Amino acid sequence: MADDPLLSVEAIEVFYGKTEALSDVSLSVDEGEIVGVIGPNGAGKTTLLDAISGFKSFEGSITFDGTDLSKIGPEQAVREGLIYCTEKRDLFPYFSVHENLLMGAQARDDRDAVRDDLEEVYELFPRLDERREQEAETMSGGEQQMLAIGRALMGDPKLLMLDEPTLGLAPVIVDDISEAIERLRDEGLTILLAEQNSTFALRHADRLSLLENGEVELQGSASEFRDNEYVRDAYIGIH
Ligand code: ATP
Repeated sequence: MADDPLLSVEAIEVFYGKTEALSDVSLSVDEGEIVGVIGPNGAGKTTLLDAISGFKSFEGSITFDGTDLSKIGPEQAVREGLIYCTEKRDLFPYFSVHENLLMGAQARDDRDAVRDDLEEVYELFPRLDERREQEAETMSGGEQQMLAIGRALMGDPKLLMLDEPTLGLAPVIVDDISEAIERLRDEGLTILLAEQNSTFALRHADRLSLLENGEVELQGSASEFRDNEYVRDAYIGIH
């Protein structure tokens, strides 16, 4: 149905051995929205994105674009447009920028569109354009983050999941990433953004969830989060 969320996570539980990392976590992402997930170290943000992408098994239900994700594997989820840009970036270190970007389009067979998307990525991140032939491992942290996002975009996402895209980056580079996210929003891309940097998440997200110890402590709009005393005291202004 047109009104159904693009992504719907309902009451999921995730365990590492006997330790529960996520408990009764629910959230939804509508088409065209940016939804933020904030929380401290170890809150479960990466675990949540790992479960959605199919890397980590879970109890409960996750539906993406009408498909029950427990019924398909991660590869099929990628083909359906669920694209995950991990915190570790997972670039191919000895491949060039250009080759890494092409790897992002491996699951696609629409060659002309791939060519167009490549040029759009280079336009979005001119630093990548200048470094097409440079090996990924020789790039700065910020350039590698741009490449990781660019490669994810080459998968033609319906939903782009970004895990900690600002981690360890200088403020000037964070600004570049910010600008790119706003451009992607203007183009209508749907994004699920996990961030320890609450200020960054609040700048971009329409709605947010606060995760603490594997549980959702608070959900609401960006303005509700900004006005919330607990969020302000514990999470805003520390980056
Ligand atoms: P960070 O911001 O530091 O990346 P996070 O919010 O993404 O933290 P997770 O990485 O999802 O948190 O971790 C949630 C909990 O699960 C933590 O207690 C962590 O130690 C635990 N955990 C994560 N991965 C594993 C694993 N492979 N084996 C065992 N425990 C794990």
